[in-house]
Amino acid sequence: MNVTQQATKLLIGGKWIEAERSYTDYNPATGKELARVADASKSDCDAAVLAARAAFDAGKWSGMPASRRAKILNKMAARIGEMASSIMESEIRDNGKALATAKGEIGAIVDCFEFYAGALLTFGGQTLSGPLPSYLSYTLREPVGVVGAIVPWNFPLLLASWKVAPALAAGCAVVLKPAPATPLTALALGEIAMECGVPDGILNVVTGEGRELGQWLVEHPGVDKIAFTGSTQTGRIVAATAAQTLKRVTLELGGKSPTLVFEDADIDAAVAASIYAIYYNSGQACEARSRVLVHESIYDRFVESFSARSAGLRQGDPLDPQTQIGAITLREQFEKIERYCALGLEEGARLIFGGKAAQIAGDFAEGMFWQPTAFEADPGARIAREEIFGPVVVFSRFRDEREAIALANDSEYGLAASVWTRDLGRAHRVVRALRSGTVAVNAPYSVFPGVPFGGYKSSGYGRELSADTLALYSETKSALLQIGERAMNPFGV
Ligand code: NAD
Repeated sequence: MNVTQQATKLLIGGKWIEAERSYTDYNPATGKELARVADASKSDCDAAVLAARAAFDAGKWSGMPASRRAKILNKMAARIGEMASSIMESEIRDNGKALATAKGEIGAIVDCFEFYAGALLTFGGQTLSGPLPSYLSYTLREPVGVVGAIVPWNFPLLLASWKVAPALAAGCAVVLKPAPATPLTALALGEIAMECGVPDGILNVVTGEGRELGQWLVEHPGVDKIAFTGSTQTGRIVAATAAQTLKRVTLELGGKSPTLVFEDADIDAAVAASIYAIYYNSGQACEARSRVLVHESIYDRFVESFSARSAGLRQGDPLDPQTQIGAITLREQFEKIERYCALGLEEGARLIFGGKAAQIAGDFAEGMFWQPTAFEADPGARIAREEIFGPVVVFSRFRDEREAIALANDSEYGLAASVWTRDLGRAHRVVRALRSGTVAVNAPYSVFPGVPFGGYKSSGYGRELSADTLALYSETKSALLQIGERAMNPFGV
């Protein structure tokens, strides 16, 4: 994908198609125009679904030997690795993230395709002992059909891969819809898929400016499953809309994930990890640890060290390898962060540091940067309960394990959590007690291929990144064979 490309097209049925309308895509770090992006109409969306349907029904992809499909996925992984620098540049210019962050993502994208290439080889049904000895029964896992993959702007290619790789592995056809603000790397993925031998129409990519495009995809009777990552608010609309056509749905939604730091923790390591866990990707991460709950006996020491070490974070030019914190991707998101910081002060929270836009000189004067920010707040405050999705952490203190668990669980979300303790028994007790899809112990993050990732409660349902994920892109068919010497004749007729 060439980042200097000025006008993008839609990928439908293996062909690059021009749309009648287009919109402007901006670089959030400079405020400058980056590309004119095809704005798909309803009939473009229909055409993409029809192309996917036709390609799926032709059976060329799902009927291909699993080993060949796996080879193609491995080829895609290798190609993404070879194109890493141009893909990263596209992603950075589109999203504003720091190069160091984008590098980590590229590695994870390659791993994701390789993981599903391996997983598909052992994916299949089961032989069952059967209801009666005279029956042999078994299950087949068949691809669910056409998948609408809808992704947000914070990790554009990574989150697209989390859906496209398992969908392709399971034998499905896909219509991928990236977020309006970050469409470029999804288009690159479409190009790579074709180059590597994915048949025409099996991966289609549609881009569009408004919310309607996603909505059309969710409503479309030709789509069998929606794999969605985005906000809880939109997730609710998606689930309700998909229910009209009884589509299969997986939802990866928002979070307000806590870190719990107990009095026996390695404070130095916990501080360093907690800084990373909130400021990485400018806090625009679903599993960002945006609440830090610290035992009262070490609270002051912890917060002091967190503040002192955060002061050294390097923010600015996303393409500078030294930069640790890049830009905020969207104007609306920037304004949301601004509103929440103002709300924190109104609510009586104590601003520990940050709280305002960061001014970066030179080419970045028009860019959207927010200072790493920390508040101390009552756990009931809105800034401590609602997802801000920016570089804003909220500290609260707790007295004992029971209170720490209660505070951590007192949230509508349940995506992820981190626990810092040297007490093995406590670590396992807290892992069990937390109502959250992932719990990392003595680690900032917990996202690896092979480890199921997804939410409890309003953080969604379904799991990504695991061998079980393939089941969510397939249907189970049960076969029962009468193998007894005499056929059943219940009526005795
Ligand atoms: P969003 O919900 O606004 O949009 C997500 C995607 O849905 C975009 O492609 C958007 O165009 C599309 N969309 C919008 N309205 C739609 C509709 N009515 N029907 C179908 N599609 C529609 O979210 P966002 O602001 O792009 O992303 C940030 C959110 O994503 C945060 O809440 C974050 O926590 C969440 N997120 C979750 C995970 C996870 O794995 N749980 C990962 C990353 C981000």
